[in-house]
Amino acid sequence: MKKIGIFGGTFDPIHIGHLILAEQAADAADLDSLLLMPAQISPFKIGKDVASPRERLEMVKLAVEGNPRLQASDLELQRKEISYTAVTLDLCREKFGKNAEISFVLGADAFLKIEQWREGPRILSEYCLIVGSRAGYLDEERDAQIAKLRERYHTKITVAFMPKIEISSTDIRKRIQEGRSLRYILPPGVEAYIRDRGLYDAERFKETD
Ligand code: ATP
Ligand code: MG
Repeated sequence: MKKIGIFGGTFDPIHIGHLILAEQAADAADLDSLLLMPAQISPFKIGKDVASPRERLEMVKLAVEGNPRLQASDLELQRKEISYTAVTLDLCREKFGKNAEISFVLGADAFLKIEQWREGPRILSEYCLIVGSRAGYLDEERDAQIAKLRERYHTKITVAFMPKIEISSTDIRKRIQEGRSLRYILPPGVEAYIRDRGLYDAERFKETD
């Protein structure tokens, strides 16, 4: 059976927290392939400090370059409406066929809320999850949620190794505006892309290479 992972997020921009989780999720669940899928952004978020869907996809492509197991996917960008994970996972099941096992990858912050997502209970009944930890969230709380969801929905949930690193796209956008270094926080190709395009008001973004 083919094992396919889907990793959704805004990726605005993608950073090493995402990449560590992606690689460790693929390893923990022995995935054949993991698709990183930028979501259409909420209309509320459109503003100067936010990158366009195409730019976010391009940064994901740059970030996964050279890793054959990770791939950028524009599946959620093809739909112009809000990207609901349940719809995305159903489309993937259609695309990969019934013989593929499809897992959704997420950090502890998102995992704690998944039952409340649109069609959350159906996602939990029909798909597998791979979950990491996240700085600011207790592993005990995550583990209690794993036990609860396993009991309630019989969800197959794999825990991925994820060191707690306090990195978020929000913090990175702020650091860019402040002209702070992002070396080793962003993949070099993504850092160069942001600087070249002046994304997130990057005029003052320092040259670090
Ligand atoms: P923002 O600050 O804009 O919300 P973010 O860094 O949280 O950005 P998202 O695109 O919202 O990134 O996250 C996508 C997925 O990646 C979520 O499942 C989230 O839990 C996970 N994730 C992001 N950063 C980390 C991190 N540092 N550690 C663990 N998981 C992370
Ligand atoms: Mg987030």
